[in-house]
Amino acid sequence: MFTGDQEKVRIVNRSLILNALRLYAPISRAQLAYITGLTRGTVSNIVTILIEEGLVFEDELQGSKIGRPPILLGLRPDGGAVVGVEIGVDFISVLLTNFVAQTLWEIRVKTTSQSQTDIISQAEKYIDQALKIAKEKKLGPLGIGVGLPGLVNVRQGNLITAPNLHWKDVPLRLIWNQRFHLPVYIDNEANLAALGEYYFGIARNVDNFIYLSSDIGLGGGIVIGGRLFRGGHGYGGEIGHIQRDPQGELCGCGRVGCWETQVGPRPVLRRVKKEFQTHHDQMLLDACSGNLDNLTFDIVVQFALNGNSICRQAIDEVAVNLGMGIADLVNVFNPDLIVIGGAFIQAKEILHSTIEKTIFSNALQPSTENLKIEFSERDTEACVLGAVAVVLDDILREMAIS
Ligand SMILES: [Zn+2]
Repeated sequence: MFTGDQEKVRIVNRSLILNALRLYAPISRAQLAYITGLTRGTVSNIVTILIEEGLVFEDELQGSKIGRPPILLGLRPDGGAVVGVEIGVDFISVLLTNFVAQTLWEIRVKTTSQSQTDIISQAEKYIDQALKIAKEKKLGPLGIGVGLPGLVNVRQGNLITAPNLHWKDVPLRLIWNQRFHLPVYIDNEANLAALGEYYFGIARNVDNFIYLSSDIGLGGGIVIGGRLFRGGHGYGGEIGHIQRDPQGELCGCGRVGCWETQVGPRPVLRRVKKEFQTHHDQMLLDACSGNLDNLTFDIVVQFALNGNSICRQAIDEVAVNLGMGIADLVNVFNPDLIVIGGAFIQAKEILHSTIEKTIFSNALQPSTENLKIEFSERDTEACVLGAVAVVLDDILREMAIS
């Protein structure tokens, strides 16, 4: 074996151990050997080095009380701080965590402007705040992960386009590298939310799943074999723009009848307003202060839960459209789990059975044998948690390489 090959093996083994510790700690050396498939000797040697470097600690107190307790290992929480950021169409969310992804500080604010300059400088203000708190806690900042509502070139760190924000060609990684002098990782928000669910939520340890989230658009994150599917240049997973109705509504992307025009709060509101023209409903009108322009998705969900047929039908129709599209994805990817996030979470009691029924009657039977349909566990936090995960993931690997 060449020296270079040995070095590569050492790096991979070290990365395997760090990642296993991140996912399963506290664990013993024997459990680490079992999980990683490495020999006990290799694990012991690498762990000794990691302890010397201050990345891993031993905790004898957590062991069994009978006989000689196994020494349990974990990553040191004070190994550093990570900032996760999500820039949404109408909000900014910032999360500060320690080295083991425990929340130290977080903020989520509504934004009123869509101006690129305003939103970026507002986000910078919160990142400054997060970094100040990290400094007070004597934690060195390791990096910033950022989720954006649009197409992102992950390798170059550029936002190519965010149609609902009307932004184009923003080299955000470069801008924030220069501003904060830290590693910056930017990605599509649904991709990061999928990672958030994979590392910290309902999809933990599920290696093949699809995450879908609907608010203003319909985003998707596809995880195959434990890795996010990005395609050749990072633009993969744009499931919201699969064309499902050539005669349908105009989409934000400029085409017609995309899936996201059929599912989500907007089509629900459109459908209720249309029905209202032939079926007047005074209670619904009163809930909108006498003007249907004030109708919100929250009101429709509440009315549907209380048995209002117009609202119920509108949500059912969207659930069927959602289920039909998911059935196609199930045929293509054969996932073990579908995770539904975003605005649909608040309507999950009404949506769940219709979506499930539609998927199971439209997808090819063998593909649905082990399929589960769940709603997001981390909800609005999924993306910022994924942003933290992406930094930690890379930092652990970089540490392994250095
Ligand atoms: Zn579209």
